[in-house]
Amino acid sequence: MIALMFGPPGSGKGTQASRVAVRLGISHVAAGDMLRDEVAHDTPLGHEAKPIMNAGGLVPDDLVVRMIESRLNEPDATQGVLLDGFPRTVPQAIALDAMLAARKDRVAWVVALEVPDEELKTRILKRATTEGRSDDTAEGLAQRLIVYRQDTAPVLEHYRAEGTRIVAINGVGDIDAITGRIMESLSHDGAAVKTA
Ligand code: AMP
Repeated sequence: MIALMFGPPGSGKGTQASRVAVRLGISHVAAGDMLRDEVAHDTPLGHEAKPIMNAGGLVPDDLVVRMIESRLNEPDATQGVLLDGFPRTVPQAIALDAMLAARKDRVAWVVALEVPDEELKTRILKRATTEGRSDDTAEGLAQRLIVYRQDTAPVLEHYRAEGTRIVAINGVGDIDAITGRIMESLSHDGAAVKTA
């Protein structure tokens, strides 16, 4: 089962995706974490991605698609994957769909976290003081929000048009309560949690 955790920067995608993946017994694959790892190891991909990430832009589709494709071929991915931060553009979504179609699979469901912009700003600036992410600045956030609206929000429309189950979740409030909302919504769809 391949499923997606979707939402704007600072919506809690990473936090919720890791919790939901554990509960469903599937792997959490976070594109941003993988890219930060490439940067930390100064690989050719990391070298190319670093300035783009710091500026709040998007790493080119072909590079990210190749990275995710090889990750989905790793043994643990066969038990199911919750993708976080991918796909972030419609071309990435089309590439993912083609990858899955080749193995007679498709995106099972999408959880879309909804958080107002003001709250996103507060959270990111707070995260900047605790995690020290180089893109967690006021300018970085502003750019990531623009990119989210322009390039990433259409991904949700892509899956809506495909008829994929989309579960919209209020991402404001207590972390446990939000995880509870997600799990409860997914359990209303037997197919969504059949690997649990
Ligand atoms: P995240 O940790 O998901 O907030 O991602 C951090 C940064 O990594 C983003 O602002 C982008 O620069 C880059 N990134 C993460 N995922 C993708 C993706 N699917 N496509 C392009 N760039 C990405």
